[in-house]
Amino acid sequence: MFRALVVEKDAAGATHATVQNLPDDRLPPGDVTVAVEYSTLNYKDGLCLGSGGGMVKTWPHVPGIDLAGTILTSDHPCYGAGDKVVLTGWRVGEVQWGGYAQKARVNADWLVPLAPGMTTRQAMAVGTAGFTAMLALLALEDHGLTPSKGEVLVTGAAGGVGSVAVALLANLGYRVAAVTGRPETEAYLKGLGASRIIPRADLAEVSKRPLESETWAGCIDAVGGAMLARVLGQLQHGASVAAVGLAGGAALPTSVVPFLLRGINLLGIDSVTCPYPQRFRAWSRIASDLPLDKLEAMIRPATLADLPALGAAILQGGVQGRVVVDVN
Ligand code: NDP
Repeated sequence: MFRALVVEKDAAGATHATVQNLPDDRLPPGDVTVAVEYSTLNYKDGLCLGSGGGMVKTWPHVPGIDLAGTILTSDHPCYGAGDKVVLTGWRVGEVQWGGYAQKARVNADWLVPLAPGMTTRQAMAVGTAGFTAMLALLALEDHGLTPSKGEVLVTGAAGGVGSVAVALLANLGYRVAAVTGRPETEAYLKGLGASRIIPRADLAEVSKRPLESETWAGCIDAVGGAMLARVLGQLQHGASVAAVGLAGGAALPTSVVPFLLRGINLLGIDSVTCPYPQRFRAWSRIASDLPLDKLEAMIRPATLADLPALGAAILQGGVQGRVVVDVN
């Protein structure tokens, strides 16, 4: 038997999440069984803990898009019992059962080995949000970003992606401007390394001018919508923005002018089907470049039973930093 947070759908179409004991034969097919130690909470998990947001196809469902733990059994040559592993993405916790359980059965190809020097708890403090922040940073670096180029903007800064992005950039010597709609997070964001705070309202509306003064050397954007459109017109010539999220909306009300007159780059970031070599590269850089004391400051501990309320909170933009779920 193992404990899991199970989301069920009733005859009226409403979903309900409860902690249940399940027999091992309820585990889905897969070549590796993992004793899960920690999971986490991302924006997507908030959706999957409720209606499913179109991502969950069948119920009962066990959400949790991230997990870290120790392999119990493996039919795959690359992994053996006792190996510490991390899983993010691949639609685990959406179409597959996920990490909100003491056991998970998964496809070995979805796993990465736990990076040397990290614990499973730290890996889940990073989770999809932090992994995605690193993919965004790698994309910006691959397009020429260096600390000498100037100030880098992080939007949705007090959220999961934003918090890790701020800490990573600051630790690498970048000057970081953090955009937040929560003024009360200023001390938190400055503690992570932000050099200044930009109120969300300053960038919330599309400018009448397609180009404004060249301000940002780069941007990691978790918000999308009008804010991303506004940022495009404020990037330095040749600079890039890594588009990560849509917390502020999926529409992009912009023109091609910043691309044509300033040669800027809009870089899409997909953490879900990111191939193994890039995953390995990102986790190695996280282990070397993310200061663990800063990571600790982002953590809010939680249990399986806390998740329904936390899932609703993250959808309202009400979660600061990273929730780490001890599933045991
Ligand atoms: P969080 O909820 O932790 O953070 C999102 C932050 O965005 C909030 O904390 C808030 O920051 C800000 N925000 C929320 N609502 C609005 C709004 N209406 N307008 C402007 N800002 C807003 O989520 P995550 O960090 O986990 O994820 C961020 C986004 O990235 C989500 O859209 C998520 O789906 C996406 N994502 C994409 C991935 C990919 O592979 N591309 C992977 C992971 C996440 P503040 O309070 O500081 O203003």
